[in-house]
Amino acid sequence: MRRMLFKSLLHGPLTEPAPAADEAALAELGKRVGDLARQRLGRTLSIREVDAGSCNGCELEIHALSNVFYDLERFGLRFVASPRHADVLMVTGPVTVNMREALERTYRATPGPKWIVAVGACGRDGGVFAGSYACVGGVGAVLPVDLHIPGCPPSPIALLKGLLALLQTAETLRDATRAARPC
Ligand code: SF4
Repeated sequence: MRRMLFKSLLHGPLTEPAPAADEAALAELGKRVGDLARQRLGRTLSIREVDAGSCNGCELEIHALSNVFYDLERFGLRFVASPRHADVLMVTGPVTVNMREALERTYRATPGPKWIVAVGACGRDGGVFAGSYACVGGVGAVLPVDLHIPGCPPSPIALLKGLLALLQTAETLRDATRAARPC
């Protein structure tokens, strides 16, 4: 044990160095998402994450959004524990046969207006699990998906970009509805 500790003091970590942080780009992106959410909803954006059968790779990246580096909450975005408090359902993985009903019930428990975001290659069409007897398919096979964020898994920055695209689309749809409404 002592030899191991001594060795670890002499040698550096064997992992690759972390990529350089682009704090400015992250701050700008997060601020845009937060501002747009307040503009769109008049308050913060609440996200409920649902693992419908993923390998947990996507979850690791989603969890990273709440760590001290990304710290999503400083931009006014937060993950909530109940679908009843959520604006967005962020769904990962292929939808497994066993999780289908739970996902449908979560959808029904989420108040409208609500958005469904399918995360990762598996969320799109089942990814590497497509065709398995245990899977129904991608999230779109069960719920009406508003946005798909690609990647295996998508990085936290890609997730933030996806949320920005979702809010921008929602803004465009709202403007179009207002324009079509008679005065
Ligand atoms: S997209 Fe990749 S990381 Fe995400 S659940 Fe599927 S296999 Fe795992």
